[in-house]
Amino acid sequence: MFDLCTSLSRMRPAEDIKALLEVPKKVLITMHQKPDADAMGSSLALYHFLVLKGHSVLVLSPTNFPSFLNWMPGCDQVLDFESSRDKALSLMKGTEILFCLDFNALYRTRGLATYLEKLDCPKVLIDHHPQPEEVFDYGISDPEASSSAQLVYEFIYRIGGESLINEPIAQCLYAGTMTDTGSFRFASTSPRVHRMVADLMDRGLKHEPIHQAIYDHYLENRLRFFGNALLNHMEVFYEFNTALISIPFSDVRRWDLQAGDTEGLVNLPFSIQGIRFSALIIDYDSEVKLSFRSKGDFDVNLFARKYFHGGGHINASGGRSGESLEKTVSLFRKALEENRKLLE
Ligand code: 5GP
Ligand code: MN
Repeated sequence: MFDLCTSLSRMRPAEDIKALLEVPKKVLITMHQKPDADAMGSSLALYHFLVLKGHSVLVLSPTNFPSFLNWMPGCDQVLDFESSRDKALSLMKGTEILFCLDFNALYRTRGLATYLEKLDCPKVLIDHHPQPEEVFDYGISDPEASSSAQLVYEFIYRIGGESLINEPIAQCLYAGTMTDTGSFRFASTSPRVHRMVADLMDRGLKHEPIHQAIYDHYLENRLRFFGNALLNHMEVFYEFNTALISIPFSDVRRWDLQAGDTEGLVNLPFSIQGIRFSALIIDYDSEVKLSFRSKGDFDVNLFARKYFHGGGHINASGGRSGESLEKTVSLFRKALEENRKLLE
């Protein structure tokens, strides 16, 4: 029914885990650090599903998650490894199956990575980032998929569990897919995605409250920060069809930015005609974080890997820099020059 690809020979198809899930197991689900709605939505959908199947399930996030996800069913069950390390390590003992959602390399779980590596149990990947690490025993790795949430939905079907898809599961799946597709507008919004959403609606999903919970929950502060960023910190390089927003640490402090407050900012320059590449660079003092987005075939996964120790997808990626904001911006400009042929 679904066209899934498991791209690594070492990795067995995720549905081969079905036999192991026939009896109650101790399951650990984890996601990438600073999880977004897809990481949380896919993890919590799988959590609700596995609990309904009688398993004992721990959901562990490497860090805290943004407050715009506080509505998500089950989010109060998510343990933050950074702030509850000892508790997490104790609860992880005896894990029989590990599910890794919405990331493809263990380092993306930050301090948790070494402990995940040591777990002596099958490791299952459900993810849509290209080029996964070869540490997973089972999995679905499908870069064509819109979101990890879509892949969890398809996994549930693949193991014949669709009768268990209830409202909380549908809400989590919808949130992950809606956000990773830019509200169903990016190229990854395939017929598979629309069929999934139709199915979830048939099962009782109400979509409007989810849009409101995610997009309409911010404080005035965040909108004013956006306004200031666009007015004072955006440069447009028309010769490269590129826009750059660079935020100094003084702004992070001034606007008291919290996890999730910058979500969406990097997409705004695309409303300028001709812009095909958008970058957001934020100085968090401890590190400089970069976000990249593109329209069309400029591969920002390659760009992030090559210049900024990062990765992601062809049209959405991120990275980091150990340099100052000014130096990072100048490195970015140099990288633009090097990519002139691909961008002009
Ligand atoms: P964002 O810009 O929202 O932080 O990230 C966009 C995409 O790039 C996400 O799919 C995320 O997984 C990926 N990404 C962000 N930062 C990094 C990074 O430092 N390393 C890698 N490999 N991927 C990243
Ligand atoms: Mn995702």
